[in-house]
Amino acid sequence: MPLPRTRHATLDDVTAASYAPAMACIFCKIVGGEIAAEVVAKEPRVTAFLDVQPLADGHVLVVPAAHVACIEELEPADADALFRVVARLAGPVRKAVGAAGTTVGVNNGEATGQTIPHVHVHIVPRWPDDGAGSIHTIFPRGERRPLADVGAAIRRAKGG
Ligand code: AMP
Ligand code: ZN
Repeated sequence: MPLPRTRHATLDDVTAASYAPAMACIFCKIVGGEIAAEVVAKEPRVTAFLDVQPLADGHVLVVPAAHVACIEELEPADADALFRVVARLAGPVRKAVGAAGTTVGVNNGEATGQTIPHVHVHIVPRWPDDGAGSIHTIFPRGERRPLADVGAAIRRAKGG
């Protein structure tokens, strides 16, 4: 019986992949079929697969084929394709595991806790009373700058 050409990732792979260049990137290897994953959607620009350490049953990661660390580095066509797949998968993921909703999120940059420097959107199924909070619960409350100042700064930064 010939050995399969792909193998499932180990925790060593996960650790080694942290902030690795594209050649060593575990998500590039999954996109390229070099490392096995439980793939649930595959398009030329986007691959979606189950998280190997799921926060809930049905926890999916949606990744672009392009090796970029942050969403602001995505080419427009990759960003469009990525979010289209997220929108298309959210319903089937929820239905498949009988969830009441999904939390959809991106750790965008090392400072946010992102561990793999290849953009990935988490789709995590949710149930009432599942013990997890909303995204509001990850931030402490505190004094904030006036909205008008911050809004103006963002409009300036994006050039209009
Ligand atoms: P983040 O902390 O946002 O960078 O999330 C990285 C996610 O990738 C974690 O939830 C890991 O469990 C997941 N992960 C790491 N390696 C693999 C892999 N080989 N296959 C599937 N998911 C993985
Ligand atoms: Zn990569």
